[in-house]
Amino acid sequence: MAATRREGQRELTGPGSKALTALVLMAIPGAAALGALLDGTPSWIVAFGAASIASMVALASIARWGTPLHAGHAGGAEEADAAAASVRSSASEEVLRRATEVRCAERTAILENLSDAVVLVDAHGETRFANLAARRMLGEQAGVAGTRAAIDALPPQVLRAVQGVAAAAAGERRRIECELRDANATPVVIGVTGVREGTEGLATIVVRDVRTEREADRIKSDFVAKASHELRTPLSSLRAYAEMLADGEAKDEAERQHFAGVILAETARLGALVDRMLDISRIESGMARANYERVDLCTLAEECVASQQADALRRGIALSLDRQSAGATALVDRNLMKQVILNLLSNALKYTPEKGTVSVEVDIDNLARSVVVSVRDSGLGIPDHAIPRLFGKFYRVENHEKVAKGTGLGLNLCRNIVESMHGGQIGVESREGAGSRFWFAIPLEQAGRKAA
Ligand code: ADP
Repeated sequence: MAATRREGQRELTGPGSKALTALVLMAIPGAAALGALLDGTPSWIVAFGAASIASMVALASIARWGTPLHAGHAGGAEEADAAAASVRSSASEEVLRRATEVRCAERTAILENLSDAVVLVDAHGETRFANLAARRMLGEQAGVAGTRAAIDALPPQVLRAVQGVAAAAAGERRRIECELRDANATPVVIGVTGVREGTEGLATIVVRDVRTEREADRIKSDFVAKASHELRTPLSSLRAYAEMLADGEAKDEAERQHFAGVILAETARLGALVDRMLDISRIESGMARANYERVDLCTLAEECVASQQADALRRGIALSLDRQSAGATALVDRNLMKQVILNLLSNALKYTPEKGTVSVEVDIDNLARSVVVSVRDSGLGIPDHAIPRLFGKFYRVENHEKVAKGTGLGLNLCRNIVESMHGGQIGVESREGAGSRFWFAIPLEQAGRKAA
C-alpha cells in the first residue's frame, strides 16, 4: 500500500500527473463555480458541466491544445520519457490514467451534447474549448482554440466580465442578460465564471437561449392583460348599477327591478368568465379529472337540443336535431361533452338572426373511426381572417361584440375538452353572411383505449 502511494505521489510530479492534480483541484471549485452560473439550470448538468470543464482544463495542461490528449506526450522529451517510464512501471498508475482519460472523454461527450453553449476562454478571451452548441450559436470559428472568434461573437460586456472573473479568485461569477448580435437578436442569459488553472485565470462562459421562456412570459402577460380587461367590464357595470340603486336613483319599482336584473346578469357573466378561466387552466395544467363512460352521443345531443328549445323559440329560430346515426356511442365524460355541445348550440343561437335555423347532426365517420357532431346555423358566419384565431383565448369577431355578449373563452374551452381530454378534433367551416358549421370528432378507438 505504502509503495503504491509513494509511486502514486511520484507520478503526480510528472507531466502527465499535472493533469490529475489539475483535475482533482479543479473539480471542486469548478463545480462550485458552475453551480451558480445560471439560475434554473438542472443541478446534474451544472455538476457534470463543472466536472467536465475541470477535465477540460486538466486536459489543456496535458495536451496544450493541439497535441493528442495523452498524458505521457506533454512537455519535453526527457520528461515524457520519464513519465512514460513511470506509467509503465506501475499497473495501477496505468489503470488510473486510463480511467482519467475515459472519464474526460465521457464528460467531454456530455459537454458536447449540452443544449447550452459552453466556452472556456483565457483572460484575453482566447478560446480553449467550445462545445457543439457554442459552435452552432457563435459560428464554427468559435471552436478554434487560440482564437477570439467566440468572444468576438458575444456582446462586449462578456469580455469585460471574463477579464473581471479571470483576475479574481476562482468561482467569481457574473450574470448578463442581453441579445446576441445575430439576425434574430436572440435573447440570451450568459453566465461567466472564473476558473483557475495554476496561476492562470480562465473563465467559463455558458450561454442559454431564452427565446422560449420569453415567449411563455409574453403569452402569460398577454393572458393576464386580456383576463383583467374582461373582468373589468362586468365589474364596472356592476359597480355603476349598484351605486345607482344605493343612491336611490331609480324612479320607480320597475326601474329598481331593472337595475337589480342587470346586476344579477353581470354577476352571472362574471361567474361564467371565472369558471371558464378555471376550467381551461385545469385542463391545460393536466389537473382536470374526467369520468369516461359509454355515452350515446345522439341521446346527449337530443337532451341538449331540448334544453335550448325555449331559448330558440324566444329568439324566433327553428332548432332541430336533423341526423342521428345509430351506434354513435363513445367513451366520453358526459358532462364535458354536454358542455361542448351546449356551447356550440348557444353560440349558433346567439349569432343567428331571427327566422334563422340551427340544426344538430350526429354522424359516424367510418373511415376515421369517429363520431362527428355538427352544429349548423344560417347565421352571421365568420370572416376568413378570423377563423385561425377563433379557438384562441378571448378572441371575438369584431362586429359580433355588438350582437351578443360573450367571454371569448367558450370555443377555447371546447377545444381543450375535445382535443386534450378526448383525443378528438374540433373545427369550423363558415362563410360570412351565410352561416357556419362547427363540428367535433371523437375517435371511437381512442375513446375505447382511454377507458381500457
Ligand atoms: P363567446 O363567449 O364570445 O361566444 P366563444 O369562444 O364561444 O366566445 O366564441 C368566440 C367568437 O367566435 C364569438 O365571439 C363569435 O365572434 C364567434 N362565433 C362563435 N360561434 C359562432 C357562430 N356560430 N357564428 C358566428 N360566429 C361565431
